[in-house]
Amino acid sequence: MNRISHWIDGKVVESSSGRSAEVFNPATGEQTAAVDLATVEEVDVAVAAAKAAFPEWRATSLSKRAEIMFRVRELVDANRKEIATLLTAEHGKVLSDSLGEVARGLENIEFACGIPQLIKGDYSEQAATGVDVYSIRQPLGVVAGITPFNFPAMVPMWMFANALACGNTFVLKPSEKDPSVNMFMAELLAQAGLPSGCFNIVQGDKVAVDRLLEHEDVAALSFVGSTPIAQYIYETGTKNGKRVQALGGAKNHMLVLSDADVDMAADAAIGAGYGSAGERCMAISVVLASDSIADELVAKIAERIPAVKVGPGNEAGNEMGPLITAVHRDRVRSYIDNAPGEGASVVVDGREDLPSEGFFINPTLLDNVTTDMACYTDEIFGPVLSVMRVSGYQEGIDTINANPYANGTAIFTRDGGAARQFQFDVQVGMVGVNVPIPVPVSYYSFGGWKSSLFGDTHMYGPEGINFYTQAKVVTSRWPDPAKSTIDLGFPATR
Ligand code: NAD
Repeated sequence: MNRISHWIDGKVVESSSGRSAEVFNPATGEQTAAVDLATVEEVDVAVAAAKAAFPEWRATSLSKRAEIMFRVRELVDANRKEIATLLTAEHGKVLSDSLGEVARGLENIEFACGIPQLIKGDYSEQAATGVDVYSIRQPLGVVAGITPFNFPAMVPMWMFANALACGNTFVLKPSEKDPSVNMFMAELLAQAGLPSGCFNIVQGDKVAVDRLLEHEDVAALSFVGSTPIAQYIYETGTKNGKRVQALGGAKNHMLVLSDADVDMAADAAIGAGYGSAGERCMAISVVLASDSIADELVAKIAERIPAVKVGPGNEAGNEMGPLITAVHRDRVRSYIDNAPGEGASVVVDGREDLPSEGFFINPTLLDNVTTDMACYTDEIFGPVLSVMRVSGYQEGIDTINANPYANGTAIFTRDGGAARQFQFDVQVGMVGVNVPIPVPVSYYSFGGWKSSLFGDTHMYGPEGINFYTQAKVVTSRWPDPAKSTIDLGFPATR
C-alpha cells in the first residue's frame, strides 16, 4: 500500500503517530494509499523548520525570489499533465478538468512572479521640512494553509505562491482525501531552488489543524473549506492572535430572466451544475428561472443531460467523474431521495444507470424547489441542480440576498440595464453576467460574502499580497548636525 507522509525541511518525513487515513480512487472505490496523520509534535517540527528558514528567506532579494517563482512557473507548466493525473487519480475529476485546475493555479504563480512590483511601498519626500515618509510591506513569518479536497492543486497555489513571494515561510495542511499532488508540488518547489524549510507539508486531520491554530510561531492562517469549519478556524485563530482568512461553503444561484437566450442558459447550467460533479465552491446549484421561460429552460436542461459523459476521469472523452468518497455519495443521494417528499419533482434521476463501481451519482435535475427544502438550504456539493421558479428579477434578487451563503452568482439576460442593476443589488462576492462560474483571474481577488467568508481579506491577487504582509511606515530625517536644536513641541508638518 502506497504511504503518503509529511514534507518537512526539504524531505519526506514519516509520521510516528500510528494513525492514518484511507485515500481512494473514487472511480473504482479501491483504496490506493494511506496518508499519515500528524501528531502535535510533528506539526511543531514543521513549524520549527519554517521558523528557522524565515530569516534568510525574508532577507533574500526580491529579484532572487522572483527568479525562483519564475522557475516554479516553468516546472509546473512542464509538469501539468503529471500533476493533473495525480489529481484525477485521488479526486476523481476528469483529466481535462484537472488540467483546467492546474492552469488556474498556475496563474497565481505567474502573478507572484511580479512580486518586486507588487510589494512596492509609497514614498513622500519633504512631508515636513527635511522629513521624508515612506511605507514598506514586510512578511509576517510562518504562515499556514489548510485546504479542501475539491481543488487539491489550485487552492494551495492560491496561498503559497503569494505567501512565499512576499518572504514568508509556509506550512500546508492539505485535505487528507487527496494529498499526493502537493507532495509532488513540494518536489517542484525544491527543484526550483526554494530553500529547504520554506515550504512544508503536514498531513493530518483536526489534531494538526488545532495545533496550527494555537502554535505561537504561526502568524497567519489561510483556510478554504466548509462553512462550519471556516467559522471555527476564524474564531479560534483570531482568539489566538493570528491573522485569519477563512473561506467557507456556497449555494450559488443563476438567475435567468425572461429575455435570456434559453439555449445559452441551459448550456451554462449544465457546465456549471455538473462540471467536477458539482464539487466546486463556485458550482451553480440553484437555477432561478423566470416563470415565462421556466418550462422551456427545464426541458432544455433535461434534454442535454443524457449527453453528459459520466465515467472514470482518466478515460478520454468523459466529462464528469465520481464523487470523492462513498460517504459523500450517500449524502448527496439522500437529497435526491428526500426531494419528492418535500414537494420537489425529480425531472432527471441521477440514481439510475450508475457505473458498476466507484462513487458515482449521475447528473440530477430537480424542479419546483422552494426555499424551505433541504435540497435548497444545504450545500449538496454534488451533481444535483435545483430549479426554483420565480416571477422575475425582483423575486430572484430577493431570494439570492436572503440566502446565508454568498460566494458566487450569475445573471443571464440580454438586458444590460438589468445586468447592471443586478451587479449593484446583489449581496454576493463574485458576480457573473452571462458567465456562470465567475472565478476572478489571479490579478483580482477571490472571496465571497456572509457565510462564505470569515475575515476581511479575500484570497490571492492584491488582497493576497496585503494578507501576507504587514505595513510599516517610516518617518525619516537626516538633519544637518550644524543646525540641530532642542524642540519639545509636537512634530509639525508646516
Ligand atoms: P472541510 O471543511 O471538510 O475540510 C477542509 C479542511 O479542513 C481539510 O484540510 C480538513 O482536513 C480540515 N478539517 C475538517 N474538519 C475539521 C475540523 N473539525 N477541525 C479542524 N479542521 C478540519 O471541506 P472539504 O469537504 O474538504 O471541502 C469542501 C468544502 O469546501 C465545501 O463546503 C466547499 O464549498 C468549500 N470550498 C470553498 C471554497 C471557497 O473558495 N469559498 C473553495 C473550495 C471549497
